[in-house]
Amino acid sequence: MKQPKVYLGVGHGGKDPGAVAFGRKEKDMALDIAKATRDDLVRHNVLVMLSRESDVSENLAARIKECIAFNPDLAGDIHLNAGGGDGTEVFHSKADTSDDDLARNVLNEIVKIGQNSRGLKTRVNSNGRDYFGFIRQLTVDNDIPAVLIECAFIDNKNDVKIVDTLAERRAMGVAIAKGYLKTLDIEYIEPVEDDNFFPSKGYFKKGDSGKNIERINDFYYNVFPTYAKTLKRDKEDVKGGYFGENTEAWTKEFQRRTGLKQDGCIGPLTLAMMKKFGFKEK
Ligand SMILES: [Zn+2]
Repeated sequence: MKQPKVYLGVGHGGKDPGAVAFGRKEKDMALDIAKATRDDLVRHNVLVMLSRESDVSENLAARIKECIAFNPDLAGDIHLNAGGGDGTEVFHSKADTSDDDLARNVLNEIVKIGQNSRGLKTRVNSNGRDYFGFIRQLTVDNDIPAVLIECAFIDNKNDVKIVDTLAERRAMGVAIAKGYLKTLDIEYIEPVEDDNFFPSKGYFKKGDSGKNIERINDFYYNVFPTYAKTLKRDKEDVKGGYFGENTEAWTKEFQRRTGLKQDGCIGPLTLAMMKKFGFKEK
């Protein structure tokens, strides 16, 4: 399975704050949202490149060049609006329909978190070509479906409430991620609620031990008996199960058979897949 790729532009940055209102800057809010989108896409095994990870100045031409070199399946540019209005608007190409699905899916998911829709938008220059370079040069000139997302109006006291707190900006980012996943035809997997299943680092890998490792080993034995039983169990003498070379090999085999990235570690994505095959956390 080819790993899907998404490029996310983070609006403005550094000496360019973008829109500013009520002490908030577009550049900071866009970064919070984009990181949440990135994290949720990565959780689904999507390879993501952000145009920036911190408050640095950027130039649009360089951003577009970088995106073309990365050659993602989908791209997006994340912004916040100003100028008096209410709701999210998603710009897509007027000339090329290949980014229409992406625009629609992203807007639909954002509406689901309670945001108003200003609809799908196109904007053209006097020569009839798409106005936004990000859309024109990616969607039209390079066959990379790209949209520009204006999440909310930060100069509208009511509208900005949807992205007021960090948790709300993250929810916006997750909604955007869901729109990308839908377009990529990847099923959304809810984050694992019970954090206690994993140790504090958030996943299991070689060297770990305990009751949950024993459960995982039992699961492999029962679900993939022909494969798992040809391998010796790791250190049966360690009370509660041990994640050794064999558990790692089984994990990679399970990941291979289910189309996951074969890293041999068990994190939320592998756990979610194991549950589909009947694994129980308790
Ligand atoms: Zn902007």
